[in-house]
Amino acid sequence: MMHRLKLHSLAYPVTALGPGQRVVLWVTGCSLNCKHCISPELRDKNAGQWIETQRLYQHLCKLPEDLDGISLSGGEPFEQALALAKLLQLLQAARPQWNVLVFSGYPLKHLKQQENARQLLAYVDILVDGPYAYQQPGNHPLAASGNQQLHYLTPRGLTLRAACEKLPLNAANLGVGNSPQQRLIGILDPATRARLLRVWQLKPA
Ligand code: SF4
Repeated sequence: MMHRLKLHSLAYPVTALGPGQRVVLWVTGCSLNCKHCISPELRDKNAGQWIETQRLYQHLCKLPEDLDGISLSGGEPFEQALALAKLLQLLQAARPQWNVLVFSGYPLKHLKQQENARQLLAYVDILVDGPYAYQQPGNHPLAASGNQQLHYLTPRGLTLRAACEKLPLNAANLGVGNSPQQRLIGILDPATRARLLRVWQLKPA
């Protein structure tokens, strides 16, 4: 069966969205409706481009093998769970050393009840879950708001716990692209994001 997914962008090496040096994929489409959404341009299901999973996999295999892992963000990765599960299945064979971290607005408890979501969860080492709650400042380097939690779902994920907790708060990487989302990468509090966009003149051209 051919799988395809709606992709907004990818970047590497990224150090602000998980431990070590990672490739990050941002998918589009999110049915949640968090007030002050942190990724408004990625919520739209019509944004981004369709890409066959196999083609994306072949592209990822051209990246440096010594990356530490892959992070999936969006948008909402679990709304494209089957295509991403297929991608991670292929990568597990080709890049077994890459750990997998996923950001989701859905709570883990909810995801565990969905068959498609369970297929993706099977490949995830670390899940950051929960909707964005703008009233609750994040208290972990990988949580945008205080309600979000990290779940270490595998033994490999557990070995990365200390590395995740030691990541600096408000870490940012510069990216390439037309949107602020692509050009300023990281879990940033709103004031820091606004300041860096201004200081680095990263507003859309
Ligand atoms: S889960 Fe993320 S992308 Fe979806 S509405 Fe909430 S903040 Fe926006």
